[in-house]
Amino acid sequence: MTAPLRVLVTGAAGQIGYSIVIRIADGTVFGKEQPVQLVLLDVPQCANVLEGVVFELQDCALPTLHSVEAVTDEKSAFTGVDYAFLVGAMPRREGMERKDLLAANVKIFKSQGKALAEFAKPTTKVIVVGNPANTNAFIAAKYAAGKIPARNFSAMTRLDHNRALAQLALKTGTTIGDVKNVIIWGNHSSTQFPDVTHATVKKNGSETAAYDAVGDNAFLQGAFIATVQKRGGVIIEKRKLSSAMSAAKAACDHIHDWHFGTKAGEFVSMAVPSDGSYGIPQGLIFSFPVTIDAATREWKIVQGLNFDDFAKGKIAATTKELEEERDDALKACDDANI
Ligand code: NAD
Repeated sequence: MTAPLRVLVTGAAGQIGYSIVIRIADGTVFGKEQPVQLVLLDVPQCANVLEGVVFELQDCALPTLHSVEAVTDEKSAFTGVDYAFLVGAMPRREGMERKDLLAANVKIFKSQGKALAEFAKPTTKVIVVGNPANTNAFIAAKYAAGKIPARNFSAMTRLDHNRALAQLALKTGTTIGDVKNVIIWGNHSSTQFPDVTHATVKKNGSETAAYDAVGDNAFLQGAFIATVQKRGGVIIEKRKLSSAMSAAKAACDHIHDWHFGTKAGEFVSMAVPSDGSYGIPQGLIFSFPVTIDAATREWKIVQGLNFDDFAKGKIAATTKELEEERDDALKACDDANI
């Protein structure tokens, strides 16, 4: 019998939580042979909602769901976890700036970083979904340091990555399976740089550079980038709620690939602590193209990609924003007496 994996979802009473738990529980993320002990955390005011989610998961009668528990305290949530999906945060509402969210959310991630260090396995792998995701991951990693390596912390830019794949497929009249190696550089925010310079599209049986397949540089350097960058805001405008189904699916893609490795010849976008690659300041949680080795479950930043001046400008802008967010967050941490 395979030992169960203990998997935590925070913010599990929320809308991403509702979409994500079924995928983790039914084997989509860790495989149909891997039992999962699911732990759902939310704030005490949401205890009833959380219990409803537990009941529904039980009613799904899933062979891979070894157990499911609802908790409202960090010790019960973080004890012994193998993977943590940190989704719980204050969501961005229509017209709200990401900066407004920073101060409120930094407190949550400082506290959860400490709880990870105290209670989780030292091998725990963490994805931060709650916004501002990159900076929240930076703070959680900082307060878990000494117990859990920084490289076990990541933030989600897979939704942006998937959005870029979808836009390329739509533009070229192909399907998702025909498009690969788009890159999201930087922050999960409107300064992110969706880059298709190294992407390819399979059309009529042959693999073509995305720029050639699209044949419209103005589109790729204009409307395409803006669509991906602003997609989250557009969804909020339409649904009056932030992306949940697609965010949950992307988080599951992210952890699936961390657990099983990326496909040969393909890379995915993941915000991870910079090791100085491409001149990005060390330690900043920055979205890079990565490959993941299935045997070791270690990610590696893809090296040797070239940038033109257009790309350099975009990367500089998102780096600057992340440095500012990091500095604001560190200040908020000092101010937060927790
Ligand atoms: P939601 O408001 O529906 O759910 C958030 C849940 O988190 C709520 O149930 C809330 O009670 C809970 N929560 C708040 N503080 C908590 C804490 N300290 N511990 C545990 N739970 C806590 O929001 P949502 O739509 O599910 O979005 C969740 C987060 O994901 C938001 O920050 C949103 O902006 C972000 N998001 C990120 C991406 C991405 O691509 N990185 C995409 C979409 C949404």
